[in-house]
Amino acid sequence: MAASVTPHLLQNAITSIQLGIEDYRSNDPRRTISAVRNFYAGVLLLGKQCLLEQAPDAGPMQVLATSFQPMPDDAGGVTIVPKGFRTIDLGELRERFKQFDLDWPKGDISGLQRLRNEFEHFHSSAQDTTIRQVIASCFPLVDGFFEILDRNPAQQLGAAWETMLEEERFFTAQKASCHLTLKSLPWCAELKDVELSCPNCGSALLYQVDPNNDDPSSIEGRCRACDDIITAEGFVSLVVEAIHGGDDYLAAKDGGEPVVNDCPDCGQPTYVQNGEIDGCYFCQQRAASECARCKTPMSINDVSVNSPKFCTYCDHMMTKDD
Ligand SMILES: [Zn+2]
Ligand SMILES: [Zn+2]
Ligand SMILES: [Zn+2]
Repeated sequence: MAASVTPHLLQNAITSIQLGIEDYRSNDPRRTISAVRNFYAGVLLLGKQCLLEQAPDAGPMQVLATSFQPMPDDAGGVTIVPKGFRTIDLGELRERFKQFDLDWPKGDISGLQRLRNEFEHFHSSAQDTTIRQVIASCFPLVDGFFEILDRNPAQQLGAAWETMLEEERFFTAQKASCHLTLKSLPWCAELKDVELSCPNCGSALLYQVDPNNDDPSSIEGRCRACDDIITAEGFVSLVVEAIHGGDDYLAAKDGGEPVVNDCPDCGQPTYVQNGEIDGCYFCQQRAASECARCKTPMSINDVSVNSPKFCTYCDHMMTKDD
């Protein structure tokens, strides 16, 4: 009976999450790997439990197997049965949520997954703060899974839930104070709903040293998690990537005009042109919208790489005249 297996899997999920949080709380660097591994396994199991409860009459492998194969049913047809004993990974779980008509909860497990894979393959240099952030960003996911399961996470997880709540509050407060240092910069409001990502450690806790600076090209960037220094150029690139990277990717995929371009004035890959926004996030210049010689309207792609005032054709013609 599936029913006898179901509580078993839920119990495993809860135990794994609790063990992960205990490992984490021990402050023993030797238990860091175990913390990430246990916590990740627990979150994944919890998600699987959500699927099982959607199909209580099915066997667990019928719901959770990675692959299936047809078997003759002796009545002229076939039945589809699980093949092997591998169960779904995180990507497949998400896919199967759609199949089972379940909404995937908010919350970001990609940081946890990355951390886990790093540990798996080499010795991660991830710092304590990165792990804190990863636990914090999984919080809404665990919360959402428990909501689907119609169970109370505080009751089920006990002290581990308290720790997760604290981490979430800690991380939210840290992020707010980082964001506050960027308040004078011209595009700060656009950063409200996106997450920056430190190129060194992946943390979202990036800030500028001088909170009164309002000039993007004078930013002295820093990461609160790994203490890495980030140049103004690097910082603004991260900002543009965080705000417009997704749209730029989609535009490229659809064969449209790129959203993020090299700036004709400063040369940084921080010029955004998308119909609404037209300007450079680094030098704040706006490219000429028509060629100074032939008066043809220009998009950022038509501007000559040699001169911000002329189209590529005119620039070429004028250099030839010389
Ligand atoms: Zn960092
Ligand atoms: Zn520029
Ligand atoms: Zn021209």
